[in-house]
Amino acid sequence: MDMPVAFRRSAETNADASCVPAALWAHLRGAALTLLRRAPPADDPSRWVSHRIGARTFRVAQPITFTPYAAARPCSARCRFCSETLRPHDGGRAASALRPQRDYFEALRGALAQLRGLPLSYSLSGLETTDDAAWCRAMLATLDAAARDGVPVAERVLYSNGAGFAQASGEALLDAFATFGLSWVELSRHHPDERANDAIMRFRDGEPIAENVAFERVARELSARQPLRLVCIVQRGGICDARGVEDYIAWARRLGAGTVIFREFSRLGDGYRETGSRRYIDAARVAIDDLIADCAAIPSWSAWTPIAVTDGYYFWNLRMRHPDGIEVVFESSDYTAMHRRHASGDLYKLVFHANGRLCAGWSPDRDVVWSADDA
Ligand code: SF4
Repeated sequence: MDMPVAFRRSAETNADASCVPAALWAHLRGAALTLLRRAPPADDPSRWVSHRIGARTFRVAQPITFTPYAAARPCSARCRFCSETLRPHDGGRAASALRPQRDYFEALRGALAQLRGLPLSYSLSGLETTDDAAWCRAMLATLDAAARDGVPVAERVLYSNGAGFAQASGEALLDAFATFGLSWVELSRHHPDERANDAIMRFRDGEPIAENVAFERVARELSARQPLRLVCIVQRGGICDARGVEDYIAWARRLGAGTVIFREFSRLGDGYRETGSRRYIDAARVAIDDLIADCAAIPSWSAWTPIAVTDGYYFWNLRMRHPDGIEVVFESSDYTAMHRRHASGDLYKLVFHANGRLCAGWSPDRDVVWSADDA
């Protein structure tokens, strides 16, 4: 549930769009934009619902998403920046290290039963959802049954690197998702050039999706079934300037994508240890403001149409219409803000982990809302 507000940047509306860096406005020529308030104002009762889970009653933000964290097996890729390999200073087990046990689906059904009557959307992510086809199909069937059994589901979105769709079981998996009914797919690929992309994503041996011919076939098959958004994490060695942005958009358009999302590495603050992924992120970061400024310096920028800015609960983005017709999103996020919200006691996010716990965030041991062990 976005709450759109049409506005033009002015003294009165600056506060509404305070999520957006001030320098950005210089590139938007005073355009009229829609402000999408994904973060619910604390004092707006229309954006909060009260919901009982177990023995406690929570204040739940609207909109909210539910993620059955995919961890049936290690990811098919080993992206150099992977947030699942970041380690917080305050320790705790990583969600990515847990594997579903025999009673996993019984526990998932128990968690979903707690969510009957709560308006939410399904957000399918974690490690790679499509890597284990059997787990994936059983998960889709469980979520679909819960939706028919009283969980009011607005949207169903898959975040994927595409690997499972390129395997022998890929066709059956495409059909399973088509039956499930996705609102759209966000497909990750960080460079149109196969070698440049694989230097970043480092697919495991034997993964057909590493090759562009397989990726492009999967992208076209997905875009034929539901809206496709390609996700490019901008970085040094990958897409890092206006020319790269234009090349990527042209490629995405040929694959049938209606939207391209250029996303900065999440800003990490000082909450994470000096691991390899942290060092890579620090060294390879391309600030999204800098990328927008670079795009704004090319002559064709005047033909791009600003559409909206989104004020998320830990991110902001700028949506533009490219002259080719494709929607282009520039996005930035901040993990410090995200953790602060998740630990607030209010619910902004729901994640079901492989240890049978329903949590208010991405740690399987913190902000626990419900546990199959206690049921
Ligand atoms: S595809 Fe996603 S989960 Fe897998 S390594 Fe890359 S960022 Fe991590």
